[in-house]
Amino acid sequence: STVAELIRNTDKPSFSFELLPPLKGNSIQKVFNTIDKLKEFNPLYINITSHRDEVVYKQNAQGITEPQVFRKRPGTVAVAASIQHRYHIPVVPHMICSGFTRSETEYALIDLNFLGIHDLLLLRGDCSDRHQFFKPEEGGNAYAIDLIHQVNNLNKGQFLDGTLMEPFETPFSYGVAGYPEKHEEAPNLDSDIYWLKQKVDAGAEYIITQMFFDNDKFVEFVGKCRQSGINVPIIPGLKPINSKNQLTVLPKIFHTDIPEALAKELRKCETKEQVSKVGTEWSIMQAKDLVSKGFNLLHFYTMMASQCVYNIAKDVY
Ligand code: FAD
Repeated sequence: STVAELIRNTDKPSFSFELLPPLKGNSIQKVFNTIDKLKEFNPLYINITSHRDEVVYKQNAQGITEPQVFRKRPGTVAVAASIQHRYHIPVVPHMICSGFTRSETEYALIDLNFLGIHDLLLLRGDCSDRHQFFKPEEGGNAYAIDLIHQVNNLNKGQFLDGTLMEPFETPFSYGVAGYPEKHEEAPNLDSDIYWLKQKVDAGAEYIITQMFFDNDKFVEFVGKCRQSGINVPIIPGLKPINSKNQLTVLPKIFHTDIPEALAKELRKCETKEQVSKVGTEWSIMQAKDLVSKGFNLLHFYTMMASQCVYNIAKDVY
């Protein structure tokens, strides 16, 4: 089955989680350790993020500081393949527009087809720190929907250089991102949902949301999506807070509000353990409430919080 089929057919509470490829030069063991910890709860699938390049300033031989571009976390395709090979759990590598040309994306898709990986999450990616506003790579896709069109074309056997082949035996199937508190660049939530619907109409089979800490906002978002004619599954994304600085970092990076009731409890914490406990309890409360409202499948951002996700899964599943 495709991941989209698994998602449509979940009739009992289950979960998926997201992993980052290791920082360049590090071993993959940390990725495996996280999976070893969480696999007893039978994750439905595992997402592997993709990362654009970042600017690093280096001194050249003349002592002049020059910007150089590096990808700090390469390896999405290989990490996905090694997880699938080792654990036989379905994997969903992310593909992004930022930092990749369409040709590079095509090569990655060809690799994935050879590896027997046909489930993807298609995204635009964030603005490079070389620019103030999002700017596509020269020869790259500008929006997630452009990436969707590229994948759809390849599914039909159409390559970028005009080569026409038999369609792949197993076409790529994919989901996209949604934002209960709207994407930072969208003028308003309705406009964001309008573009989200375009992605669904173009072929996205499910939506995974940005992290949120207020379930009412998610439920309202789902209602608005349904009113707009978006009928695919919408999977809530949850992140247990496990350090105090996330109180300011998460709103800045992910443009999500932290309810005052949670912020207040976190401010009172004096140790990292206390912060993790408060963050975990909040996620458990969110998870149980969502499951009671019929959202059987939850998606966890593990980002340095795999122990918290373990504790949540132990309580909820
Ligand atoms: P898009 O759908 O392209 O939307 C971008 C903005 O443009 C929105 O404001 C939208 O309203 C608007 N818009 C959309 N289409 C059009 C159009 N055709 N014309 C005009 N406006 C339009 N980032 C990474 O770099 N790597 C990852 O692995 C990664 N994984 C993620 C996983 C999830 C579940 C989520 C929620 C986000 C993830 N991100 C990741 C972050 C994401 O890439 C950023 O939030 C990015 O800024 C937007 O991506 P998108 O796919 O939602 O963009």
